[in-house]
Amino acid sequence: MRTGTPARPRSAASAAAPKGGKKTGKRASGYNPLAPDRIAEILKRLDQMYPEVTCALTHSSAWELLVATILSAQSTDANVNRVTPELFRKYPTVQAFAALTPEQLQPDVRSTGFFRNKSKSVVGAAKKIVADFGGRVPDDMEKLLSLPGVARKTANVVLGTWFKKAEGVVVDTHVHRISRRLELTTNNDPQKIEQDLMRVIPREKWILFSHQIIWHGRKLCIARKPKCVDCSLENLCHAADKTWSTVEMHKNAKA
Ligand code: SF4
Repeated sequence: MRTGTPARPRSAASAAAPKGGKKTGKRASGYNPLAPDRIAEILKRLDQMYPEVTCALTHSSAWELLVATILSAQSTDANVNRVTPELFRKYPTVQAFAALTPEQLQPDVRSTGFFRNKSKSVVGAAKKIVADFGGRVPDDMEKLLSLPGVARKTANVVLGTWFKKAEGVVVDTHVHRISRRLELTTNNDPQKIEQDLMRVIPREKWILFSHQIIWHGRKLCIARKPKCVDCSLENLCHAADKTWSTVEMHKNAKA
């Protein structure tokens, strides 16, 4: 399965919003960033901006997605996608990976960074999947978390994208940053952010919401200089580090 062609973000805000600079000021009394109406509006606009997005890591099986996700830590999806086609040609099955030592895998994944740890995780996961799960990637959170190098982010990617099971919300660097900017959480710890998001985002939206926010983080809400003037969430967003705003900015709403 080749995943996701990103929808081109629409830039309604740039046309609709008045010219203006940053505004700061008192928070409107009664403002609740978690109000159901606000959350629903954010989700509606994300649907409009990114109607059919999914995971950008190239994969054709749960195992390939698991490997690609492990390799994507501290790397870009594009970088991982440059490595994995040849990697999966060379080692076409989970059993082929299980037969390796981490050292044998290292040269093949070197360009994704942190290659020693990643090799250890991939080979360790392959060995455990072969030994304990009949060579099949489990579709169960607890079992996935028992694999070396697999934490909730990776498990959520595999469960959501491949198995279509909403067990949690993927919290990567983009979801982390944007959830804080949008005041959906005040936490910094990914597990706590995930719990906060699971409380306010309806479960049927968990999988799509993560994909949409990840695309939003790549296209517009980038780390250093978000393109707020082109963002359809602009008048719902009070982030302290906005580059352009028609609404008051909240000093704690930042990445
Ligand atoms: S910080 Fe800017 S780009 Fe990011 S969500 Fe807010 S308005 Fe949009």
